[in-house]
Amino acid sequence: MKKNDLPVTDACAPPESALLSVEEVRRRIMRLARCVAETERVAVRAALGRVLAETVISPVNVPPASNSAMDGYAIFSTDLPESGSRTLKVAGKSLAGAPFNDKVRPGQAIRIMTGAVMPAGTDTVIMQEQAQREGDDIRIRPGHCAGEYVRQAGEDIAMGDTVLTPGKRVMPAELGLLASVGISEVTVTRRLRAAFFSTGDELRSPGDALEAGQIYDSNRYLLYGMLQRVDVDLVDLGIVPDDPDAIRDTLAQAASQADVVVTSGGVSVGEADYVKQILDELGEIDLWRIAMKPGKPLTVGTLGNAVFFGLPGNPVSTMVTFYQFVKPAILQMMGQLDAQAASLRVPCTSRLAKVPGRLEYQRGILTQDPHGTLSVSTSGLQESHILTSMSRSNCFIILPAECAGVEPGENVEVQPFAGLI
Ligand code: AMP
Ligand code: MG
Repeated sequence: MKKNDLPVTDACAPPESALLSVEEVRRRIMRLARCVAETERVAVRAALGRVLAETVISPVNVPPASNSAMDGYAIFSTDLPESGSRTLKVAGKSLAGAPFNDKVRPGQAIRIMTGAVMPAGTDTVIMQEQAQREGDDIRIRPGHCAGEYVRQAGEDIAMGDTVLTPGKRVMPAELGLLASVGISEVTVTRRLRAAFFSTGDELRSPGDALEAGQIYDSNRYLLYGMLQRVDVDLVDLGIVPDDPDAIRDTLAQAASQADVVVTSGGVSVGEADYVKQILDELGEIDLWRIAMKPGKPLTVGTLGNAVFFGLPGNPVSTMVTFYQFVKPAILQMMGQLDAQAASLRVPCTSRLAKVPGRLEYQRGILTQDPHGTLSVSTSGLQESHILTSMSRSNCFIILPAECAGVEPGENVEVQPFAGLI
């Protein structure tokens, strides 16, 4: 089928009913994205962004000993007065890292600082603002509870507790958690390697001069940025011209070195679009046309042991299909459970035009008014070559296939970029 034989409209495209739904495509891709079997032991800091492949059991109590939550005085709760006031003798002090190790008797108080270990027998802390210091004594009044301002040993994590389970991606909180139980190494799935390249005779790299008909290759920079943030090793195979032999060689090279191969451009039915055709020769194609906008033509399959994603060439389409399909697939291959991004429903303040039939990922600006109420507005032009729309926006507005447009005030589903990027 030659591009020039066709009218420029979509009149010859398959009817929307022949397109696969986004949900079906997601299911098929997730079935294809099998978790890697190999694991490795790494130092805790090197586990940042990686996925745990073991159950982590705490070898210690956190906190290891009962300690004070306040600067004040550690006392016996049996000394708390029910009426009037009571005077206790200050018999020593307990500091964080320098506990009071002598015996404490009822009627005594120990000066204690936040984080310091509770001296044996004491069970209650009177915060310093509520204790009246009188020379070597303190005076306390009624109204305190037994056990107040004491953090109990094992209150956060008890020895033997499960701290983290396989499938958890290690983020800053997990690094701190692992450190808090004294663990210095963990088992994670091995790092994935992703190869990527752009296809198109019209593409030039930034820094080169453009001749008539040429454009700069933005997608390879988008893919670099998006893949880098998923914590995979990258193999940048550059720009490949619309030449079957060059594409065949590059695909073979990519498949031999990577777990994931991502390309952009060349997956529609234009006469210079070879990627799909060559992939049919080299591997197995899984799907092709999706009821979504942007991103209708998408090629997904296997090339040897690698999973292949042929993303559409328009930069916004490349980003939308990457975040909706490629990123969750890579995270699942890394072993992460629950790899789909979260969304929320908020009122839309703009009118959004839409034709029923395809699910749309429009770009929006999510804002919060001074009372904390969220709303979303359109970020303007929505065509798939308008890359500024991604930079101006901070969320996708997800409009279901059947939606025929949105009036101001209606609720819409949004996916904040903060949870994606
Ligand atoms: P294609 O999917 O190859 O037909 O490309 C669709 C549109 O995206 C065309 O306008 C291409 O020029 C453009 N395009 C393809 N690849 C890139 C790229 N790497 N950077 C910027 N634009 C691209
Ligand atoms: Mg092309």
